[in-house]
Parts: sequence; C-alpha cells; structure tokens
Amino acid sequence: MSVVTERYSRSQADYAAAREVIPGGVNSPVRAFRGVGGTPIFFERGQGAYVWDVDGNRYIDYVLSWGPLLLGHAHPAVVEAITLQAQRGTSFGAPTELETELARLVIELVPSIEQIRFVNSGTEATMSALRLARAATGRRLIVKFNGCYHGHADMLLVQAGSGVATLGLPDSPGVPPSVAAETITIEYNDLDAAAALFANRGAEIAAVIVEPIAANMGFVLPKPGFLSGLRELTQAHGAIFILDEVMTGFRVAAGGAQALWGLDPDLTCLGKVIGGGLPVGAYAGKRQFMQLVAPAGPMYQAGTLSGNPLAMTAGLTTLRTAFGGDASAFQQAVTRTARLADGLRMLGERYRIPVQVGNVGTMFGCYFLRQEGNQITSYAEAKAYADPQRYARFFWAMADQGIYLAPSQFEAGFLSTAHSDADIDETLAAAEVAFAGLVSSAE
Ligand code: PLP
Repeated sequence: MSVVTERYSRSQADYAAAREVIPGGVNSPVRAFRGVGGTPIFFERGQGAYVWDVDGNRYIDYVLSWGPLLLGHAHPAVVEAITLQAQRGTSFGAPTELETELARLVIELVPSIEQIRFVNSGTEATMSALRLARAATGRRLIVKFNGCYHGHADMLLVQAGSGVATLGLPDSPGVPPSVAAETITIEYNDLDAAAALFANRGAEIAAVIVEPIAANMGFVLPKPGFLSGLRELTQAHGAIFILDEVMTGFRVAAGGAQALWGLDPDLTCLGKVIGGGLPVGAYAGKRQFMQLVAPAGPMYQAGTLSGNPLAMTAGLTTLRTAFGGDASAFQQAVTRTARLADGLRMLGERYRIPVQVGNVGTMFGCYFLRQEGNQITSYAEAKAYADPQRYARFFWAMADQGIYLAPSQFEAGFLSTAHSDADIDETLAAAEVAFAGLVSSAE
C-alpha cells in the first residue's frame, strides 16, 4: 500500500529473510500486515511512547505490543527491576516471594478476585479457566460471542475475530468438529439470544466467556445491561461467568472493566499489562472455584515457567508504578486517550468521512465505515460496515508520518503513561493530513 518504499527498505529485506524460515515471516499472524497490505515494519528499539524501526524511522506507538506496555517502552523502573532479577536468576521452577506479592496486589486491585494462578499467556489463562469451569460444574458446553477472541485454544477458536477476521479466514482447520461443537456462539450484545439458549440448554452450559469490551473485532462496547444480564443468566442456571480481561485488565481502570461497571464474575482472565511486557497470563476469581486447581484440588494445570520471576517483577513494577500510590499518570493517559478519540471524531465530521470512534480508559478504536449512519455493535455489523480499504490507506498515511497504529481495523489501540499532549497533537495533525488524503483519493 505505502508508496514510500525507500522508507521501509530494510524492513522489506528483513521480511523477505524471515519468510524463508518462519511461516508467513511472523510469529503471530496479524503482524504480517495482511489487514493493511504492504509488508510489516520491523522494529529495533522503543523508549517511552516511541518505537524506531530498522530503517531508523521513529513512530508514536499506539500498539504498545498489543496492550501490555501501560508505562510505555523500556520504563526505567521496569528495566531496573528486570535487570536486578536477571542478575539473581531468571527461573527457578520453585516458588518465589514475587508471586505472592503480585497475587496480593492483583487481589487488592480487582474486586472479584480472591485467588489467582499465574500462567504464561492469555491463551493459557482462558483455556485453564474453561477447564476449571467444566471441572466445577461437571458440564461441557461453553458459550462465547462472535468476534470475541480469547486466544487460540481449540475450543475458543470459533468465530474468533481478530486475526481470523483480518485474514478473512473461516474457523481454523485443525480444530476437531467435536471440540467446536461444544462451543456455542452468539452475536455480541444479543442478550435475548443468550437468554433463549439458557432456556433451552441451561443445564448443559459450563461457562459463558466474554470480553467486557469486544476489542478483537475493532472496538465494540457492551450495550447497557448486556454484561450484567449475562451475570444474572449464569447465576440463575449454575454456570460460571468468565470475564476475559486479558486486554481490559489494568487498562480501562485499575480494577478492570469489572470495577468500572460493577460486575462480579466468578472467574477473570488476565494477561498483557499484568506482565509489564513479559509473557504472563493469569486466571483468577472466587476462592471456592480456585481451590479446585491442583494441588489444592483435582483440576490439573501446570507450567515450567509459570510465575517466572522476570515476568513477575516486570508486572509488579508496572502495576505499582501505575496504581501503587499516585495514579495521576494513569488518569492523564485516560484523558489523553479521550482527546485523541474526540480529535478523530471531529476529523471524521470535518472531512465527511464516516468513522466510529470508541474509547474507554486507555483503550480506543476507530472504524472507517462504508456509509454514514452505519453503527457497529456486533461482529456481523463489523464485517458488513467496516471498510478495510479505507483503513489501510489511513494506516499507511499515518505510518508514513511516524504514527504507528494497529495494522488492522479489527484491533484496538492503546495509550501509555508516556504519551504526552504533544504526542497527541502530533498524531492529530498527522491524522488531518491522512483524512484530507482520503477525501482527495475518493474524488
Ligand atoms: N483474551 C483476549 C481478550 C485477548 O485480547 C487476547 C490476545 O490478544 C487473548 C485472550 C490471548 O492472549 P495471548 O495472546 O497472550 O495468548
């Protein structure tokens, strides 16, 4: 898509080399830029709100490793904590005090959590939470929502948004039909469909898993009453309510979406920010369920590197810095996220380019719509109304001006505490040029 190929020449060479030895040249599909065309940008370093690519171009980064870097890149306190721990040893495969410290802090911050088990990714967190829900209920069926992504475990790779939406893939081959058959999917925000399903098959349903903001199909907010309605349905039918806060946890508020919106899930999945940029996930929740996890109880789940001290210290330092005492930097990031979102909305109006911009906490999303009046509240609408070509042109116009957005409009954007007002000004100025370019290319 980008015509300024000179600017990305080393990235292009790196991509060609990577494709020889890595499938598609990347270790996670959306990184391959299929959603925006062209070839991926290879990065070399990051500092605060900025990343530099291998060609020496600087960008204001709104991807932030897909969310984890709440404090921005290479925050000095995080770097120091990791360095100190690395000098003491990188892994013991035995308990450390750091794990208890991080567990205590998460329990303090997130209202519904009484106990927590650390794993290595969001995928592991959701997979384990579902095993726990099945163990706790003795039931098999899982309910998920179209376009919600909960990692790539077999039973969750059904109508899973994000990468599959970007690549236009159907559900993945390799997922046995028998496994997929035990996951029932409903449109996001369709509480009536959930109620009808529970009325028919409530006694078979082990769990409902949901993203409190559907941020893997772009940025879709829950309608008022949707999440609390799911909570009520699960409670009435003895099913486990799992809130997947891998993305929203410590991003929309210190206590996640559940604190913001007064939700009380049985289990919560966490990831991203909880590892401060190192690989961590966690599943957590009510003691009565968590006590079923081995060795406290019979449900097996384990990990060689789980609770890894480097990751624990990075997560602890990130959460303590953001929320430990003075949370004003986080609040400022929330305000700047709103400024950015408002600015994008205004540009949409000024240039008569229909956009749907959403923001909560330090997360935002921007759909380019096919037509004025389109409104996206579900995956079906996201696929019907979002205009990938327009987003691709916008993405490259921004990248060419040093602004790095998610390389797919089915992904959310993130701010860090390192993003300044000047960064937002620079971003909105670049966006104005990009919107103007979209108008002239449409004429
Ligand atoms: N759940 C949600 C809501 C996510 O956004 C993601 C990843 O983007 C996952 C689970 C999977 O996490 P991971 O990529 O760490 O396996």
